[in-house]
Amino acid sequence: DPRLKAISDAITVVPHFPKPGIMFQDITTLVSNHKVFKHTVEIFVDRFRDMDISVVAGVEARGFMFAPSKALGIRTKFIPLRKPGQLPGEVIAEAYELEYGKDCLEMHVGAVESGERALVIDDLVATGGTLPATIRLLERNGGEVVECACVIGLPALKERRLLNGKPLYVLVEPR
Ligand code: IMP
Repeated sequence: DPRLKAISDAITVVPHFPKPGIMFQDITTLVSNHKVFKHTVEIFVDRFRDMDISVVAGVEARGFMFAPSKALGIRTKFIPLRKPGQLPGEVIAEAYELEYGKDCLEMHVGAVESGERALVIDDLVATGGTLPATIRLLERNGGEVVECACVIGLPALKERRLLNGKPLYVLVEPR
């Protein structure tokens, strides 16, 4: 699919950001190119259209750049999974380990209803620490996570196509 090469080519690698040694995958150059950004929407929407999905969850902050357009494309609700202290209503929280330190995501209670089929979308999966926390959040409220989807995934994860037993869909590898 030539669109995948265009998507990969639109990602900028920023060495040593935010720390020495990290090759940061910058997707701001992807979303600023409307033709390539649209490719990501079309590929995801074509895949998700017939999966009987009723919830698309996006992970703060870069997941918010990709998830809402997919929700609109398949006519489902969008729900934000946020860093602590940002959601005004009653929340449930899941902490998770990062390479260095810990983080936490919160979801509004009632954002997903029992039995609803959900997708989780983020920009990038690296070690795979974030997405299992999002799966736990949705499942604690009775949601059924059908798939996690990211624009960028490390080769090992991309090939395995699974994350904690859940299907993982990834468009391109890091540059
Ligand atoms: P994981 O939990 O180790 O899989 O890391 C994934 C999370 O880290 C995602 O929410 C990404 O937005 C963020 N992340 C890690 N590295 C990068 C990067 O190089 N570019 C953009 N986001 C990154």
